[in-house]
Amino acid sequence: MKMESSSQLAYSKFIEQVKSFQVERVTIKPDRIEYTLKPEFGSQRFFTQAIGQTEDLPSLLQSHNVEFTTMLDHAATTTGIMGLLLSAGLLVGTFAWLLKFSNAGGGIGVGAGMGKSNARVYNQGKTGITFADVAGVDEAKHELQEVVDFLKNGEKYRKLGAKIPKGVLLVGPPGTGKTLLAKAAAGEAGVPFLNMSGSEFVELYVGVGASRVRDLFNRAKRQAPCIVFIDELDAIGKSRGGSPIGGGNDEREQTLNQLLTEMDGFDGNQGVIVIAATNRPEILDPALRRPGRFDRQVLVDRPDKSGRLEILRVHAQPIVMGEDVDLEVIAAQTPGFAGADLANLVNEAALMAARNNRQAVLMADFKEAIERVIAGLEKRSRILTPLERQTVAYHEVGHALVGALMPGGGKVSKISIVPRGLGALGYTLQMPEVDRFLLLEDELRGQIATLLGGRSAEEIVFGKVSSGASDDIQKATDLAERAVTQYGMSNMGPVAFEKNSAQFLDGGSTRRTVSSEVAVEIDRQVKQAIDKAHNIALEILQLNRELLESATQTLLVQEVLEGDVLQAILAQVKAPIGLNTWLSEG
Ligand code: ADP
Ligand code: MG
Ligand code: ZN
Repeated sequence: MKMESSSQLAYSKFIEQVKSFQVERVTIKPDRIEYTLKPEFGSQRFFTQAIGQTEDLPSLLQSHNVEFTTMLDHAATTTGIMGLLLSAGLLVGTFAWLLKFSNAGGGIGVGAGMGKSNARVYNQGKTGITFADVAGVDEAKHELQEVVDFLKNGEKYRKLGAKIPKGVLLVGPPGTGKTLLAKAAAGEAGVPFLNMSGSEFVELYVGVGASRVRDLFNRAKRQAPCIVFIDELDAIGKSRGGSPIGGGNDEREQTLNQLLTEMDGFDGNQGVIVIAATNRPEILDPALRRPGRFDRQVLVDRPDKSGRLEILRVHAQPIVMGEDVDLEVIAAQTPGFAGADLANLVNEAALMAARNNRQAVLMADFKEAIERVIAGLEKRSRILTPLERQTVAYHEVGHALVGALMPGGGKVSKISIVPRGLGALGYTLQMPEVDRFLLLEDELRGQIATLLGGRSAEEIVFGKVSSGASDDIQKATDLAERAVTQYGMSNMGPVAFEKNSAQFLDGGSTRRTVSSEVAVEIDRQVKQAIDKAHNIALEILQLNRELLESATQTLLVQEVLEGDVLQAILAQVKAPIGLNTWLSEG
């Protein structure tokens, strides 16, 4: 749904909406109150003027699970918050609330008097959200359950002298429920939730970001036990250094330094736990992950089919559903959707039904809504086209079938085509049975063939390859090159052409100076090893063409193959005649 410009409603209407739990978020500004309805009520935005009301708004909002923020004009706060509120016509019933405002608004060092910078108060009450509201991300939930236990039963840990961790970093693509999880943790523990977003720091004047951080932590310590949530940590936590002198972002660095100082300056046993979220972990400053800071990292990934079903169930709860609605079918039709996309989908379907003047939401509404949501997502290239999805499925099954015949590679334990948040489109997991330190020659060949299995499957099925195999090819080539130049596993004999990489700090390796004939020969041997492995992979897949087909179809439906189902498939793989000769002789 598009954000329409908000329209004005009477204050009494606003209160009525709050009381009937329709309101999701409220922003209290000096001159008006802006608010957004919950998705199931259309996500519309309204504003209202609060003239002469005496209602105790904050506690009303808190008791109806409304998130609220206040944005006070800072120049005005210095002249006295009371006057400001009065001049805005907002009379509040509790003095405690005023106190909260005044000390939150009083961040030091703000360009006071410039009247421009809006001081944001990030106080929020207990969230009212619990783990029951979060679905499909069981591992992440489990990790946060522990955090809840720290907060609730801190004494138990303190008595044993255990150090409670202070920082948890939630990593995952947008809309997967990171914010929701953090709120649920606060809800479950029944503690206050102090919420700040990294991007709020960056547009500030020099020094303000740092003082904001200091302020945030001071409040947290006063309110302990509590959860501090820093969203978009990457906005302040980008790697320092490398920025050109003067052109660098001093402000951001100061803010980051302050955050690091604050994290070091309290101890987890004080009952403050900092949860941060990011979808760009790779750009974070490594200092943030040191012990005692965000040393726990939790992956919050896009859900698989059964996860999507659970999420749909959560969001379908308040909706009047028609008899024909089958959430399982919807889950199957929405690969790549994150939790937020599914929430959006359910709401779109409800809107569709309302527009059609129906009494209940029907499957037809969902069909239409799915198309709409997918169209939106494709623009942001987060959804694979059906052809791309097929390509990924054949590719992964190709790895698995070839891998099933190779020695030492370990059991293929899982194939997945759920797009993994941070990069890969699909993956095949091979679990080594034991830790291996030495690779035998045949195992090395087997690994090269397994790596090439994905690309080979694409060649066989589509007659052409996609760019998705580039990483495999890189790895296969590296292995083949090491076999020839380091391990002496070619008919060039046991001559090391490469200096042991351990001698180099960067872990790279350097070839010995060799004559150009030898260099040519090395290249030829590497190419030969790759070609042979490629041929074997092709041969295996051609021999098992039907299995490749049926396994891929199953994978496309199930999205994940593992356990007995997978092992039954792999047990059927037939070996070509030349396999053993190739494995032993190359
Ligand atoms: P993130 O912080 O990872 O970007 P949010 O927590 O802000 O995602 O998710 C936005 C909304 O999408 C949530 O308020 C919720 O309605 C819905 N949502 C996202 N993930 C889930 C989930 N795992 N289970 C249930 N609802 C979810
Ligand atoms: Mg978020
Ligand atoms: Zn691959």
